[in-house]
Amino acid sequence: MLHEKLSMIYDNVLRRNPGETEFHQAVREVLESIGPVLGKHPEYAESKIIERICEPERQIIFRVPWEDDRGEVHINRGFRVEFNSALGPYKGGLRFHPSVYLGIVKFLGFEQIFKNSLTGLPIGGGKGGSDFDPKGRSQREIMRFCQSFMTELYRHIGEHTDVPAGDIGVGGREVGYLFGQYKRITNRYESGVITGKGLSYGGAQVRTEATGYGCAFFVEEMLKARGTSFDGRRVVISGSGNVAVYTIEKIQQLGGVVVACSDSSGYVVDDKGIDLDLLKQVKEVERLRVDVYAERRGGGASFVPARSVWEVPCEVAMPSATQNEITGRDAELLVRGGCIAVGEGANMPTMPEGIKVFQEAGVAFGPGKAANAGGVATSALEMQQNASRDSWTFEFSERRLQEIMRDIHARCLSTADEYGMPGNYVAGANIDGFKRVADAMLALGLI
Ligand code: NDP
Repeated sequence: MLHEKLSMIYDNVLRRNPGETEFHQAVREVLESIGPVLGKHPEYAESKIIERICEPERQIIFRVPWEDDRGEVHINRGFRVEFNSALGPYKGGLRFHPSVYLGIVKFLGFEQIFKNSLTGLPIGGGKGGSDFDPKGRSQREIMRFCQSFMTELYRHIGEHTDVPAGDIGVGGREVGYLFGQYKRITNRYESGVITGKGLSYGGAQVRTEATGYGCAFFVEEMLKARGTSFDGRRVVISGSGNVAVYTIEKIQQLGGVVVACSDSSGYVVDDKGIDLDLLKQVKEVERLRVDVYAERRGGGASFVPARSVWEVPCEVAMPSATQNEITGRDAELLVRGGCIAVGEGANMPTMPEGIKVFQEAGVAFGPGKAANAGGVATSALEMQQNASRDSWTFEFSERRLQEIMRDIHARCLSTADEYGMPGNYVAGANIDGFKRVADAMLALGLI
């Protein structure tokens, strides 16, 4: 239920942003949490902080023309939404996926404001991408697309202005092509303009692993708060991309047994525990589908096409693919199957009905804003290393990441307690993330 004032703000968001359903959903979730804050802080309402936060500072939409290997011309649409720079330069990834449109970019950019605030690091919120579909494209086509995309984007970004990174469909290879084109156009070796770079040209240790590792650390903290751990627990993960793979790696190191993962073609179940070397070979090196994993693994592993991985019973669920992948029904199935904790590696993967089911059943539910913040936090550490022309060791970087995740977990819990919602990580993350941005916006005046 929304507080009356917030309900009017939400209606206005619906009216001003027609058809952008994912953005509406993300705004509503934050507004539902911050009602109690307005009671304590009337100055936020007086300065219209919430209305201002819901309106991006700048939205850029551009044409991306490129030529495929046969010489055929394609036109895609590029986006960059620079949402909020109260805490630092806009920061957030680029997503290349055919489902991308303004509503997706705005939902991701809006979430990013609070997530970045929660890390405690000096980064604002933004997001971008394109409706380009990288699937089935050759390396040269990917490079030409990235070069064309950056030929427009470069004028809007900079290490002190706006710092993109990867997301779905944008990994180390794409970041390399994007950075190369930026460097060529501007004639500047401005390492801090993009994060997720390769280690040979300004990348940071642990950035590749950070979102997955961080999410596993966050869930480890949630389990610890309940007097338990990952040890011997049965875990299911959706996706098999960057976040999923490194979530699996860390959970295995923490003693959990990951028995299923997926991609958009279906899922694999492997009761002995996913063989991570094989999964990396199939997905990261050869860029094939998960059925090939089951085929090569043999002995007990099976592929189930076109179904949801959430029908596999588990004690811990780690959605790490995309938005709105856990419905209310999936959540009920998971609870009935014995699920005690959920850590969102993806952004907004659980639908509002699903969150309700988990919370009512007493499942420890870590929302993406908090649980997957390790990726952007390590990006901020990459910016820090680039600015000081330094590079840290893997061990030191991982320790920093773990400290950041523990701190986020502790602040979510203490904020939820302070506002009378003990154990509610959604409220804790939204309120804590919101307050830091709101205070900075108040201090900066009406801009
Ligand atoms: P990748 O592109 O590396 O992997 C995405 C995975 O999710 C793939 O297995 C993909 O399958 C699957 N997937 C994507 N879209 C769909 C869909 N519509 N239906 C079913 N499966 C789908 O992306 P990342 O691992 O980087 O990102 C995963 C999630 O984590 C996203 O929500 C992203 O916003 C979030 N995230 C990522 C961060 C990062 O550092 N990379 C940081 C914080 C959050 P297929 O290949 O078949 O499409």
